[in-house]
Amino acid sequence: MKVLSIVGARPQFIKVKPVIESFRRNRIQHILLHTGQHYDYEMSKIFFQQLNIPKPDYHLNVKGQTSTQQTALILQGLEGILKKERPDMVLVYGDTTSTMAGALASVHQKIPLGHVEAGLRSYRLDMPEEVNRVLTDHMSNLLFCPTKAAVDNLKREGITKNVFFVGDVMYDVFKQNISVGHSNILKKNGVKPKGYYLLTIHRQDNADNIENLKSILLALGKIKDSVVFPVHPRTQKMLKTLKDFKPENLPNILFISPVGYLDMLILEKNAKKILTDSGGVQKEAYFLNVPCITLRNETEWKETLNDGCNTLAGVSQEKILKAIKKTAPRKKPKSFFGDGRAAEEMVEVLKKILG
Ligand code: UDP
Repeated sequence: MKVLSIVGARPQFIKVKPVIESFRRNRIQHILLHTGQHYDYEMSKIFFQQLNIPKPDYHLNVKGQTSTQQTALILQGLEGILKKERPDMVLVYGDTTSTMAGALASVHQKIPLGHVEAGLRSYRLDMPEEVNRVLTDHMSNLLFCPTKAAVDNLKREGITKNVFFVGDVMYDVFKQNISVGHSNILKKNGVKPKGYYLLTIHRQDNADNIENLKSILLALGKIKDSVVFPVHPRTQKMLKTLKDFKPENLPNILFISPVGYLDMLILEKNAKKILTDSGGVQKEAYFLNVPCITLRNETEWKETLNDGCNTLAGVSQEKILKAIKKTAPRKKPKSFFGDGRAAEEMVEVLKKILG
């Protein structure tokens, strides 16, 4: 059996790690293709180094283009590679341009397609991620769901064949790495365990919208503790354009470069509370039982809203400050994301189906 995985963005490098390990353990041939969607050292290479992910077999170098151009380049680049490799299955991960373009390229080549993290929905078709997810799910032959809610979402859209609840591969990686990180990331930023907040922003609604971005930062500028803020390149681009808005006027916010996965886990674990618009970070806050304030009005990970340890605050300053006060750890930790063996379960399914 030969499987080809397509990745291109930060969360996909994390998601593919346990899948590669499972293929290796089961002696299944695996080919890794990096589209080049994310290309900065801190957004790409550091994950390969820290998580010991093998060097990609193919790299499409689509960096720095618009989503439309990236889609075209990925389709074009994959055509020849898929023709040459003829894998038994292509796997795509999550909800990015690389996911959707990779899915379409496999469909064109009539190669069976598997979607890892299938069935997630925000029900907002103005979000590029939602369009990518819906299209990919409807093109896929095998759908690997991280939660039971994801299975139900697919059922509502009439997708019931070859849908498998395997658990979340991000929980696999989390479990494998939460105890291994030893770094000086707290010391480096002059913060103490449970003495700071952690902030991430990268969604179109917040990173590309000056008013929303300002509103979030002004709210956080009002709290007395430090806020560690690893800035995503997309958000950095917008911050650079803010002429009337100086980060130095918000001295409690520590603007730092994106950090590697192991440092991020340490920052998350030791944060008093986490503020984010990221899907992965919301889940990691949930795994760690660190209160999370989500800077959106909806979430694909509705399970994390149970017991009040994740609050949807949107971007209004008032709502964010209120949510920071009220969001607390939950009393009874419950896992909705499988048992940390999602990749192993996926490979079992693939072995049964592909032989
Ligand atoms: N992450 C990281 N360094 C950072 C910010 C995030 O390693 O500076 C990790 C985070 O721990 C999580 C993943 O990146 O595992 C989430 O990716 P992202 O927020 O880019 O995308 P999303 O999850 O929203 O698709």
